Amino acid sequence: MPTFPLTGGCLCGAVRFEVDEQLLTANYCHCTRCQRRTGTAASAQAVIEPGSLRIVKGADVVRSFRPPDGWAKLFCPECGSALFSQSRDDPAKMTVRMSAFDTDPGIRPQARYHVATAAAWEPIPDDGLPRHAGGRT
Ligand SMILES: [Zn+2]
Ligand SMILES: [Zn+2]
Repeated sequence: MPTFPLTGGCLCGAVRFEVDEQLLTANYCHCTRCQRRTGTAASAQAVIEPGSLRIVKGADVVRSFRPPDGWAKLFCPECGSALFSQSRDDPAKMTVRMSAFDTDPGIRPQARYHVATAAAWEPIPDDGLPRHAGGRT
């Protein structure tokens, strides 16, 4: 079990955050947006208990990309680090990009989403996780 709060931040240190409750679940997303914004084949994120995330440094720095048909993508504009996503309908619903945690957040991705758009250049790992053609519902 990790100790709480979990801590994390962006690459340049302008943004720091804490999560003070256990993460609910985690997943990999293979959608094209995640590939573009991360430069990788898939993005790993953890779903937080609503209200458990606190930005302790740089809350005024964080910027977001808000596609009209999806969750907002929050990032540090200084270094480009992907940090969070946020529901358009309920801003308390958020995920934390797992790479932003300082240490083991105590949870592992439990499913793969948007595998229909998975990158052609990297095989999806044969890890036994359930694969979903589309998104998380
Ligand atoms: Zn930064
Ligand atoms: Zn995605």
